[in-house]
Amino acid sequence: IRENSVWTQDRVIKSPFKDVEIPNLTLYDYVWQNLDRWPERTASVCAETGRGYTYEQAFKLSNRFAANLRTKFKICDGDSVAVMLPNIPDYPLVALGILAAGGVITSINPNYTAHEVQRQLKMSEAKAIVTLPETVPVIRESLNIAKINIPIIAVKRNDNPVPEGIALFNELSEDIHTDNSVLKQVRRQTNDICFLPYSSGTTGLPKGVELSHRNIIANCEQINDPIVAMHNETTSTHQDSVMGVLPFFHIYAATVLMFHKFSIGAKLVALPKFQPETFLKTIEKHKTNILMVAPPLILLMGSHSAATEKTFEHVKSVCNGAAPLAASDVERFLQTAKHEIDFRQGYGLTETSPTVTIGPKGSKQHATTGPPVGSTELRIVDINLKNLGPNETGEILVRGPQVMRGYRDNPQANKEAFTEDGWFRTGDLAVADENGIITIADRLKELIKVKGFQVPPAELESLLREHPSVNDAAVIGVPHQSKGEAPKAFVVLKDGHKCTERQLSEFVNSKVATYKHVDDITFVDSIPKSAAGKILRRVLKDQYC
Ligand code: AMP
Repeated sequence: IRENSVWTQDRVIKSPFKDVEIPNLTLYDYVWQNLDRWPERTASVCAETGRGYTYEQAFKLSNRFAANLRTKFKICDGDSVAVMLPNIPDYPLVALGILAAGGVITSINPNYTAHEVQRQLKMSEAKAIVTLPETVPVIRESLNIAKINIPIIAVKRNDNPVPEGIALFNELSEDIHTDNSVLKQVRRQTNDICFLPYSSGTTGLPKGVELSHRNIIANCEQINDPIVAMHNETTSTHQDSVMGVLPFFHIYAATVLMFHKFSIGAKLVALPKFQPETFLKTIEKHKTNILMVAPPLILLMGSHSAATEKTFEHVKSVCNGAAPLAASDVERFLQTAKHEIDFRQGYGLTETSPTVTIGPKGSKQHATTGPPVGSTELRIVDINLKNLGPNETGEILVRGPQVMRGYRDNPQANKEAFTEDGWFRTGDLAVADENGIITIADRLKELIKVKGFQVPPAELESLLREHPSVNDAAVIGVPHQSKGEAPKAFVVLKDGHKCTERQLSEFVNSKVATYKHVDDITFVDSIPKSAAGKILRRVLKDQYC
């Protein structure tokens, strides 16, 4: 190991960037701290309808919503409020309103089924849920399954009817008689939890990831470092236009697109429904200059017939994250765009708020995900947690101010997720070069990622086992050309039972969001397991894939 290298003598990788200073604020105060520099600028706008808010409007409306959450819905400090919304311009207002009310945001995928929603509502002990009128039936069904009753608040975007008995975000946020003074009672500290997304981590079912105000602020500051920053300063003549295509419920978009971009006064263009043509047209129409994407979008931007040089005319920087990316897809995209684009990869997890590493400005190493961001240390370890050196592949461990406090109410999962000396185990396999530049090699953990979305095998396995003819089941991820990975199930039927692959698929698929659908099922005599009863997924992979 060279002197002055980012590697210490103990084989810990230090960040090459400056340590971050983390202001002692709540995320709410952090986001709004520079509001007076850009009150008239557009904060968020809908790509489909042009409906949107200026920063001043966003601030006022979210505060009124917050005051009403406290008075009309009795939301108290630390209460979870669920948000089940697509990417609409109101999303950041709802989220910041919940924070202003002292609440904790628990974000839910808007495509979830009632079965999936009820689990998160129960686990997060949500005290209210914000959604669209169109999703109310799914939520009502989920409340029935969970046998709980919480108020539903809907965001009305058009003339579609609103089911009876539903409060409207629009009325709550626009009510000029609201008494905002109740917000003075809010007592939140920077180390309190503010965001509770769900992630399966390395194993098992989705768990509540406790992210504090400080975790997310630290991550915003880490990506503000001038060497890694993708944005430009908002001035009287410039405002970044940022494409809001990644789902806001996921940590990547929540921190990097919503909270961070609001804190720097950018314009967030929200795309509620993904359609390739609308996505590409929006980039051109809104003169997008910053694009945060996941691998399927890079593939699309390099191969779709409607993607041309003109589409990307204003795009200056592109960041990819969430799943492994084929270098050839990047090259194709850059060739389509034709002009110089600062393309970089970031790597992170829900548990790390999310950014752990990111390529520095102008990096041409497209297959790598860069070095650790400021104030972040990494270790690459073997199975005995012994530190490995440059160019050796092992599990990547993280320590830094963006690492979650822990999984909610789950000491066992926390014991497995952290080493005794407090390093977070990512469950990813990576290699670091002499300069601490990381390349993600593989996933050690069982998690499957379909188009960048989490598909926990344990969830599909437990659903398969609920079928009356199924004795045992195992699910693994297999490579898929456009989705990255797809789930494949192995099923052992009960003696004397008959059941088709299609019947089983329908049984599972009716209970989960589309990207989790299992359409590839193989019947087997037994599932390979360790002496402790753990599914040997590697054996299944080697045997069948
Ligand atoms: P999530 O918690 O949904 O953000 O998923 C985190 C996981 O996504 C990581 O543990 C990795 O397995 C994967 N991931 C994130 N970024 C990248 C990347 N740039 N390249 C490869 N895999 C990634």
